[in-house]
Amino acid sequence: MRVVITGGAGFIGSHLADRFLAEGHRVVALDNLITGSLTNIEHNMGNTQFEFIHHDVSNFIHVKGDVDAVLHFASPASPPDYLMYPIPTLKVGALGTHNALGLACAKGARFLLASTSEIYGNPLEHPQKETYAGNVDPIGPRGVYDEAKRYAEAITMAYHRYHGLETRIVRIFNTYGPRMRLDDGRVVPNFIGQAIRGEPLTVYGNGEQTRCFQYVDDLVEGLFRLLASDYSDPVNIGTTREITMKEFAEIVNKVSGNEAGILYKDGLRIEGDPQTRRPDTTRAKEVLDWEPVIELEEGLRRTIAYFRKTN
Ligand code: UDP
Repeated sequence: MRVVITGGAGFIGSHLADRFLAEGHRVVALDNLITGSLTNIEHNMGNTQFEFIHHDVSNFIHVKGDVDAVLHFASPASPPDYLMYPIPTLKVGALGTHNALGLACAKGARFLLASTSEIYGNPLEHPQKETYAGNVDPIGPRGVYDEAKRYAEAITMAYHRYHGLETRIVRIFNTYGPRMRLDDGRVVPNFIGQAIRGEPLTVYGNGEQTRCFQYVDDLVEGLFRLLASDYSDPVNIGTTREITMKEFAEIVNKVSGNEAGILYKDGLRIEGDPQTRRPDTTRAKEVLDWEPVIELEEGLRRTIAYFRKTN
């Protein structure tokens, strides 16, 4: 296959590119590098099966030659990033998705949309099943990301229903691993950065809010299976081990050997920060026979080793 990955120099996009290359496919990575980085793909630069195009996919996308799949992963994804780039975030979710769908249509390619647990907003149903329509404030600070991704799902389904395009939608829950930016502001790089500097971990609010963290390799396996499937409704991909941010800080301190403890930073919690989040992954298990296999402590050890080596 020859696949186009938008956001191909980003955290998830670059891991996805590696997996396709490892399986013998060809990859065209597109990225405007506002939150992605060339260091994530430099190991592939000499590979004749890999091509990088510096491009903002919110503008018309030109790719020469045959394409078998378009995987749309371009978007700022960390809350501080999308607060800093609210309009590019809305544009890449709306115009970028439209352009990526248009490319897939023109090439007769299969399309996979990277959607997000954020489409459930601050959920009133717990855990979140794919049938839950969500609780999103369109004008809240997180609305720029959440509504862009909700629109992206809507236009993807419209291309599927109207044009008969083969489409896949993954709703990605919190994911971590090597190649996250240490300064992207999300809780995993924040805590690991603080831990390796021997500083206390900054827990926002009272630390009772929950998340489930999956290691990036588990996600990539799920994405691979989803693309190969014939399933066009959205599929949650994430772990179901739900922990509070206070528990998470304790785990990071333990795994990293950091003795500086926890610092509660009430004022840094962003308005609309979901109080709970846990996927119902029954569909992924039934449709894709997918389950995550990497334990949080093991994934953290690998991620901490990466950050120690690169910083
Ligand atoms: N958080 C925290 N300390 C930090 C950064 C984030 O306690 O240094 C909290 C944040 O308030 C949220 C959770 O960790 O409740 C996950 O935040 P993240 O930015 O990783 O992504 P989200 O899951 O909210 O999209």
